[in-house]
This record gives sequence, structure tokens and C-alpha cells, in this order.
Amino acid sequence: MQSPAINQAMDILKLLRQVTEGQDEVPIKLAKITRIIAEKMEADAAACYVAVDDSYLELFSSFGFNDDVAHKVTIRYGEGLVGEVAKTNRSLAVADAWAHPKFSYKPELGEEEYKSFLGVPLVRWNRSIGVITLQNKQVHEYSRLEIEILETVAMVLSETVASEEMTEYKKDLIKARGLTTRERVKGLSLSKGYGLGKAVVHRRRQMVGKIFAEDKDGELHRLETAYKQMNEDLDKKFASTQLGIGEHVDILDTYRMFAKDKGWYKKIEDNVKSGLTAEAAVERAYEDMWNRLSGTNDQYLKERLHDLRDVADRLQSYLSGDFKEVSEISNWSDIIVVAQTMGPADLMDYDYHKIRGLIIEEGTPTMHVAIVAKALNIPVIAKIKGLFDEVKTGELIAIDGNEGYVYINPLPATQEKFKAKIAEKEKLLARLAELSKLPSKTLDGVRIGHYINVGLAFDLDYIESTNCDGVGLYRTEIPFMTSDVMPDVERQVGFYKELMDRAGKRKVIFRSLDVGSDKLLPYWSNMSEENPAIGWRSIRISLDRRAILRKQVRAFLRAAAGKELNVMFPMISDVSEFEEAKETLMIELDKEKRRNQPIPSKVNVGLMIEVPSIVFQLEDVLKQADFISIGTNDLAQFTFACDRGNPRLTERYDVLSAPFLKMMGDIVAKANAAGVYCSVCGEMASNPVEAMVLLGLGYRNLSSSGASYGRVKSMIRSVNIEEVTDYVKTLLKSQKRTLRPQLLAYAYDHGIEIY
Ligand code: PEP
Ligand code: MG
Repeated sequence: MQSPAINQAMDILKLLRQVTEGQDEVPIKLAKITRIIAEKMEADAAACYVAVDDSYLELFSSFGFNDDVAHKVTIRYGEGLVGEVAKTNRSLAVADAWAHPKFSYKPELGEEEYKSFLGVPLVRWNRSIGVITLQNKQVHEYSRLEIEILETVAMVLSETVASEEMTEYKKDLIKARGLTTRERVKGLSLSKGYGLGKAVVHRRRQMVGKIFAEDKDGELHRLETAYKQMNEDLDKKFASTQLGIGEHVDILDTYRMFAKDKGWYKKIEDNVKSGLTAEAAVERAYEDMWNRLSGTNDQYLKERLHDLRDVADRLQSYLSGDFKEVSEISNWSDIIVVAQTMGPADLMDYDYHKIRGLIIEEGTPTMHVAIVAKALNIPVIAKIKGLFDEVKTGELIAIDGNEGYVYINPLPATQEKFKAKIAEKEKLLARLAELSKLPSKTLDGVRIGHYINVGLAFDLDYIESTNCDGVGLYRTEIPFMTSDVMPDVERQVGFYKELMDRAGKRKVIFRSLDVGSDKLLPYWSNMSEENPAIGWRSIRISLDRRAILRKQVRAFLRAAAGKELNVMFPMISDVSEFEEAKETLMIELDKEKRRNQPIPSKVNVGLMIEVPSIVFQLEDVLKQADFISIGTNDLAQFTFACDRGNPRLTERYDVLSAPFLKMMGDIVAKANAAGVYCSVCGEMASNPVEAMVLLGLGYRNLSSSGASYGRVKSMIRSVNIEEVTDYVKTLLKSQKRTLRPQLLAYAYDHGIEIY
């Protein structure tokens, strides 16, 4: 039996369909729709607000208010009741609107007589693209049934508002107001690089044309067939894509599991049984989940919602029969994919060898598709509002992933610049590849121990491609962060052994879990703190939750059986923390021996120097440590009391300044005096000019990121260490805020390669 909400909504929708499928111009259509909704729902007034850009809504049509108010009322997201609905993406029913704290009076409307208010968002891609409202003169408690009817109507209306016709109409409006369309737009870079190619607007969400089904069994059959086909195709697609190994593959696997989720499928089936078409049932199941989960602060759940949206879209496109491999682009050799949002599997719909860039209107750095794209060396730019509607498939796009700019239909001169940049980058890559055969040795013959930092599994490829001396920092929290559950000892041994195997005879330094602050574990939800960077994080967690540390070091010991094991502890603030952590490792080593487990041939224990207090206990800690590694990112953050992730502060303090360099000089001098191996694994070792200064201060071991390794090596091979040592000494007395300009000038004057 159909629900009463569906019955009544069906009635309204029949009328709406006649209007939307008719020949009227957009404003007439909207006016008719608004009137029908008001009359059928027995409201005294109704209004339809549409988002013109992402910051405000404009009244497009109304019924029951002053005449001629269309396009004269604008409302910011969050402003008044309408703005609140748009901002929160949730329906809002208020019996006495004037008494509501959010109410804001719009005199242009003439709404003095109206008391009650019901607003429902028009949602597309989780974003409000408009709001439909009902108002009544009497104080009226809108029933659950009324809200549901309006929500169902809104679902259809949102498709109209998002239609091509409406987009064109909005463009004309903007033009008529003298606003220009954009040529260069700024976004957020999620993966660096340059790209030039034809835009491919990623499959727009399917319109849920028909909402109610006449033949339930037929609908269930359609659903089952589409669902099966989708999953079979996904399996095939993943099996045939050469992606190597890594987190990006784990992400795709998780997505595939999600597509097979039985609970979700059952919900869709139930919706079909209640009278909806399969397409509408998928949409309703998604909205249900959205309503329940969208309020969460949990990043992990938010990502899951993204996955669900992607899978829902995919299933809808199978249902509509529209799903096909994108054929029109098969002859294009360079494409830039433009998407509103995108799932990791969607990228595989294209031949990824041809993708020169990816633009996502929404998107965050942790977004799964960005991680996959990065692994494939595709530049990615996110957070460009409105671009998805602006760009058409086939238009030329240039993407500058270094600065975060997108050029739409770039001028010929800009195109030439991009071509030159791409060619230059290719030449540079070829040169760096050549360089990998040569040692990291300075002009005056000093061999530098040159290692890489590893986090994501695809960093492992850099071990061979850079031909490095080993891994100077393995950030073990990364596999923890990309797992769905806390990895047990066995799984950890798997991660660590893979690294040991890939490294072969090269040295590997494992760092114990460094979570907290910006590195959150999806399965630990209650870690929000006032000052996370100086909160319960890193070694502090490992020592307080000793079982985690014990398991981790046990996994290290097992993974390195028969080989040399190097373990270091992060964020050590005083000697006793190091002693405790080291003791835990030694106890586990003893236990392994007693269990007759194979053990490493040698165990070296070290610590990271990244908290200033330990610098003042350096002599003491050096007596007990086999090695130290300087985490300059955190050491600078705590020395300058300057949040390393705050963009407002990036220019304020510089590691290339006397106080920081003096500290760095003292550390290496003390380590050398104590005969303790010392390296730098913070970002300074990945930045050529900063790394040059480290050499001048006495550092002889650097651990750079895989991507910057070649550039740092180039610097090493073009520097004279004796000369730079003398020069750096002269700078340490300077009181300048930054010594960077002098150091850059020095490098240029002496032919030191720091690109
Ligand atoms: C550092 O702080 O410099 C460091 C290498 O550790 P992370 O960047 O992982 O905090
Ligand atoms: Mg650190």
C-alpha cells in the first residue's frame, strides 16, 4: 500500500510534471509551480528561492506575497529562516515564525500577516541549491505528513532548478546584471602539477524523472538487474586497472564493499515496495542516510557519505540505462575531468593515462578521489564554486596545481605558457631520473646520507626510483589512518614487512605511532581537544595506552626478524619519556626471545627532536640513544609557538633565521661530540635551499620526501660544503627575521641548483 504522503504528493507531482514538461519560459514555469504547491497544500503563501551563487539565494517566484517581488529579495545562507534551511540543508517547520530567534523580516515581501513557516531545501549533491517555503496566516503546526509531502515535491523541484534550462537562465541573469563569467579562478590545490586539455564534465547526476511506480514487481526486478550489473562492472573495472599497491587501492576496495552493502540495498527495496520507482527509492535511501549522518563531525562518517552519494549516482545511472563508458572523449588525448564531487571509482571511468587534471567543485585533501589521483600523478584542484555549471565538455582548460588556478578557455599566450611548463616539467623529471644513478655527493667530495620519508604506500616506489640510501622516516600512523579498524599485530607486521622487503639492504627507520593533532584515526572519535598540537598526542598516547605501543613494537620486531631494526619515538619532551618507551621495546624484545620468535640481528633505538625542552636535555638523552632525527616541522612550530598549519602565520617566522639555525647547529654539534648518528627528517630536508643550510650547519644525513628527493640531490651535487659552512657561520649573528633572501642569493651566485 502506498503511504498517504506519497498519494498526496503524487497528485501534486502530476500537475507539476505538466508544467515542467510544457513550453513556458522558466519564470512562468516557476510561478505556476509555486501556485500549485500553495493551493494543493492549503497554504496562504509559497515561495521558491534559488541559489544564484554559493553565498546567497534569490526569490525566483512566489504566490501570496506582494506582486513583482521576484528577483527583488535576496537572502544570505544562514540569514533568517530561509537562509537557515539552506545553510543546514534541513527542513524547518515553525508554528510562529515571528517568535523564532532566526526570523528576519523582509519588508519587500509583505509577509506581515503570516505566522507559520515551513521551509524545505532543494538539494543537489548534498548542497542546497534553493529553498521552497509555505506560509500560513494562522499559527499552524505543520504535520509530519505535510513536511514529507513538501520534501518529496522538493526532490522533483530540485531537478528542475538544476536543469540545463535553469542554468542558462541564471547565466543570462548574471550577464544582464553586468557580471562577467570567469576566465581564471582560484581553488585549493590537492595535487601539484600542470595540465592542459579538453574539459570532460563528469556525468551529471541523473534526474529522478519518475517518482512513483505503477508496477512494483517490475521495479524490483529493474533494481536487482541494475544492482547486479553495476557490481559486476565494478569488479571487472578494478581487476583490469593497473594501480600497483597502496592506500588508493584500499580505498577503491572499501568503495566496492560499500557498493555491495546489504543494509543499504534492503532500504532501497523497501522504498520500492512502498510505491517509489527504483531511481526515486535510491534517492530516498540516500536522503535518509544524509539526514541521519550529515550533522556528524566525524570525518570518517562524512567520507562514507561521499562514498554513498557516489554509489547512489552510479546505481541511478545503471537504472536509467544511461550508464556507458564515456565514448565521446575516446579520441581526445588530453582531458581535464571537471566534477561536482566524485568517487574514487568514477576516475576509473576514464582512461587515466589521458587525464591531465582533475577539478572538483567540492572536495577536501582527504577526499578519496584526490588520494587516488595523486597516486596517479594527476594535478587536482578543489573548492571552486560554481565551476561545474559553468564549464562545458570540450572547452579547453588549463590547470595549475602548484598555485591552485584553473583557466577556462585560456588565451593562446596562456596555452603556450602551459605547454612550456609541462615540457619543462617533463624535462626536469627526465633529468632527475638521470640523477638517480649518481651519488648524493657534494662538489668537494662529501658523501651525504640521503634517505626518503615514507607514509602512503605508494611512497615505496620512490625507494627504487630515487635509488636512495634508505628510509629515514616511516610515518607508521599513515597505514593506521587509512584503515577502517585499528590494525592488529599481524596486519601491522604485513605493512612493516612490505617496507622492509622493498628496502632490501637499505636502512629503514620506523617511527612509532604519531597520532593526534592533525592526524586523526577514523575509529577514535573522541579526540577533540582545545589545543590538539600540544595535547594528548604521539608518544603521550603510546605511553598512556601502553598496549598499543607494545603491539606496535612487537610488530616492528617481527617484521625485522634477522635484519637491523631502527625504531624512533616522536614528540619526546623529556628523557624519562624516552627511557620508558625504550624500556617497553626492550621488554618486548625479551619476550620475543623467550617465545623463541626470530628477532632482529640488531636493534637501534632513537628519538625525534621536535620539542624544545629535549634540546636542553640533549647530552643526557644522547647517552641513551643510538640515533636522533630532527623533526623540524614540529620543532619550528614549538620554538616559535606558531601553528604549523595556520596559513596566516606561514610568512611570519622562518626556519632560516638565526635563532632556529643556532638551535639546529647546537643539536648536530652535540650529537657529533657524543658520536650519535643524527639526521633531519622534517620538511627542511626536502627544501633545497633549507637543506643547503643544514649541510652548512654540519648535518650529513637528510631524509627528504620522495617527490623532492631529486631536487635536493641536485643541490647536494652542486654545493661546496666547506664554502657554505663558512657562509652560514657569518649569518648566525644576524637579527633579521629571515635570512632566506641572502641564502637564495648565495645559492644563485655560487651556481647551487635550488629549483
Ligand atoms: C616533523 O615534525 O618535522 C616530522 C617529521 O614529523 P611530522 O611532520 O610527521 O609531524
Ligand atoms: Mg612531527
